[in-house]
Amino acid sequence: MSPERAPKTGAGRAAVRPRALLDRMPPVASHRLAPDSAEAAQRVRQAMAMLEACSVCPRMCGTARLAGEIGLCRAGEELKIASWNLHRGEEPPISGHSGSGTVFLSGCSLRCLYCQNYPISQYGAGDGCSVERLVEIMLELAGMGAHNINFVTPTHYAPQIMDAILRARRQGMAIPIVWNTSGYERVEMLKLLDGIVDIYLADMRYGDDNQARKYSKIPDYVDVNRAAIAEMHRQVGVLALDTDGIAQRGLLVRHLVLPGGVAGSAKVFKFLANSITPETAVSVMSQYFPAHKAVDDSLLKRRLTEDEYRTVLAEFEAAGLENGYCQDY
Ligand code: SF4
Repeated sequence: MSPERAPKTGAGRAAVRPRALLDRMPPVASHRLAPDSAEAAQRVRQAMAMLEACSVCPRMCGTARLAGEIGLCRAGEELKIASWNLHRGEEPPISGHSGSGTVFLSGCSLRCLYCQNYPISQYGAGDGCSVERLVEIMLELAGMGAHNINFVTPTHYAPQIMDAILRARRQGMAIPIVWNTSGYERVEMLKLLDGIVDIYLADMRYGDDNQARKYSKIPDYVDVNRAAIAEMHRQVGVLALDTDGIAQRGLLVRHLVLPGGVAGSAKVFKFLANSITPETAVSVMSQYFPAHKAVDDSLLKRRLTEDEYRTVLAEFEAAGLENGYCQDY
């Protein structure tokens, strides 16, 4: 049985709904790192040291970010934030009824030619923000009733964000942290986030490196992404919801279906079913539209067809995956 359909909303991410198997799991126990522990302080020091000759993301470009240099991801030492708000367009267990406390980071280590947020991710739109101010923003979002704090494209600022999360937790912020990532992450960096991040909302963009190279300018996406997903699952397990259907902990994989089979969906699904677990929650997204440089690409200059999306949903089912969300076409 394929994932259930739900109607699209207007702008932004379309509405999705869970399959019955994913409904209403009991609350999960806390496995968080004590924010005032010696280990927490040591992890922040270790992560900040990775900024000296930057090795925060798998590009390992060696940029001297603490000396004022800007990396391939457009990030320097200071955090840069494009926007923050209560967002109701994520998957239901993330947005819930009150919204997700979303913080959009500026810059990205990928260069997807179809990026829908390219002014932020590739042209650096946003404003500088201290770690102290980020703590205030998190506390403000929590005070506004956010179900979680949702860092969008956080990878290149992982050290500073980790510091901010621990400071906010020391001030009593208890809601889950969502790491909303392209999935191009170093396992070494993820291990420092163990016990700090509660929910990994992670892309699996490609099943084939040739496509990742062509469309996101990344030579090794598939192996790096698969290792990262395995580490995320090791840390937080399958997606767990509270009695109100709000995610508390776990892994939710996002897969944006691209026209012309570019995303290699069947390979992605087989990996998840065979190498992680068939219970992995997957959001299979149909919302692709040509943006940025995709308007000039022979394969990506059009939207997905209904047949293409139906084929991918059949591949989801054929892979043996059990839990997921899809979008109406
Ligand atoms: S996070 Fe940015 S500066 Fe650091 S290695 Fe990656 S691309 Fe380079």
